[in-house]
Amino acid sequence: MSLSDPASSAPYPAETRLFIGGSWRPAAAGERLPVHNPADDAEIGRVAHARAADLEAAVEAAAAGFAVWRVASPPERAGVLDRTAALLAERAEAIGRLITLEQGKPLPEAIGEAAFAAEILRWFAGEARRVYGRTIPARGGAAIAQSTVKEPIGVVAAFTPWNFPVHQAVLKLAAAVAAGCSIVLKGPEETPASVAALVEAFADAGLPAGVINLVFGTPAEISAYLIPHPTVRKLSFTGSTAVGRQLAALAGQHLKRSTLELGGHAPVIVFDDVDPVLVGARLAGAKFYNAGQTCASPTRFLVQRGIYNRLTEAFVAAAKGVVVGNGVDAGVGMGPLAHPRRIAALEGFVADAVAKGARLALGGSRIGNAGSFFEPTVLLDVPIEARAFNEEPFGPIALFRPFDTAEEAIAEANRLEAGLAAYVYSGSIARATAAEAAIEAGMISVNHHGLALPELPFGGVKASGWGSEAGADAVGAYLVEKLVTRAGL
Ligand code: NAD
Repeated sequence: MSLSDPASSAPYPAETRLFIGGSWRPAAAGERLPVHNPADDAEIGRVAHARAADLEAAVEAAAAGFAVWRVASPPERAGVLDRTAALLAERAEAIGRLITLEQGKPLPEAIGEAAFAAEILRWFAGEARRVYGRTIPARGGAAIAQSTVKEPIGVVAAFTPWNFPVHQAVLKLAAAVAAGCSIVLKGPEETPASVAALVEAFADAGLPAGVINLVFGTPAEISAYLIPHPTVRKLSFTGSTAVGRQLAALAGQHLKRSTLELGGHAPVIVFDDVDPVLVGARLAGAKFYNAGQTCASPTRFLVQRGIYNRLTEAFVAAAKGVVVGNGVDAGVGMGPLAHPRRIAALEGFVADAVAKGARLALGGSRIGNAGSFFEPTVLLDVPIEARAFNEEPFGPIALFRPFDTAEEAIAEANRLEAGLAAYVYSGSIARATAAEAAIEAGMISVNHHGLALPELPFGGVKASGWGSEAGADAVGAYLVEKLVTRAGL
């Protein structure tokens, strides 16, 4: 069987190396970190652990890559992105298999993630052709020409997490490449091989050496090295709000531009004019996707009192039907959590909520002793003081509370500092539009879960971050504007 067969037993790479200046290399000091399969805790490979010498080499390579790529023509940049897309589409099954082995999600979801990266690359290939400034009529008439040009900002330091290893990385890589930047990406140490396979596709598509460099190591050490580095001009980070705050402070100190895609705590407001059985089942599908390890995951379910019992019963029934297991097995709907530290975090959230008066309607515990499996969990009547109602649970935990008036639900939706995604369910256009206007969130999805498409902006407000990672403004985050005003002599 070949690696491209999802049922293949082709081995996981023994060592995922650093990609610096167009070549794959071990860490200079030979250090490596173990990579585990979260379905059985087995060590499946190792990843090279970069230290200062490797990071300096990566920055130098990125500086050289930038000198080449900043002057590459728009069709040249678009061509690389289009060819990378074609390779991703061809390799989606093999890359998906790597994602499942190192991250745990069901194989069809993992293959879907890799295949969807091709869609994202195609979108950015189009955007690469549309990077241009404007002409501004001069006060002094035709003797003066005024125009702006958009130039790539320079070398970017990027940090991406383990929940959607390929998706999170491709958004940053594709935007940087489209803009003409070069990039040093710190990939997730938990899920390195799929990110390396993505970077390999860029290289195979003809991206010049040094434009993309990939490192792994100790996250705090790498950010402390790269962000203040004088060659680095921009930070892009996806991860928790707590870490985002620290990195933004460091970037601010060194006046580096930042794009931050941070945590969410998405409210879901369900009004009593919907079918509770239909909506309850649909919400369960959305909640347990990727075992709830999604920044836009629906989390605080606020349900109008008249349908609260029927909707929560339908949700629990659907949650009971979620098949939890090893993501490589057919029919599995939810894999393990991506790493063991999430088990302790989720157990803590459940115990705290129950102690404060929530009713545990389903789950609440780890499954078995091997692998990081956790039950689909439903907590009802959760008090707002519960920790899970305030901190991002980032796991398969659904938290329900009834509400009476729209004002009450909206006040709860806006109570937290997070402002990433929000969801509204209602059969009334008036109720839905009033909620859309009042909710403080970067993205609101009404009566469906329609986020995260390449052409749609993806980003948060308040403490959920700065900037957008997709849509028409995404490349702009990697550009600076230069004004040129020219008169004849
Ligand atoms: P964590 O806060 O330790 O790490 C989150 C991410 O930030 C990881 O990818 C990690 O490598 C990176 N990171 C951590 N410290 C860093 C530093 N000093 N410099 C640079 N990068 C650093 O938490 P975790 O246990 O890995 O994940 C749990 C929490 O992270 C979740 O509760 C969730 O809030 C958040 N998270 C968010 C996303 C997202 O898509 N926005 C993705 C993954 C994790």
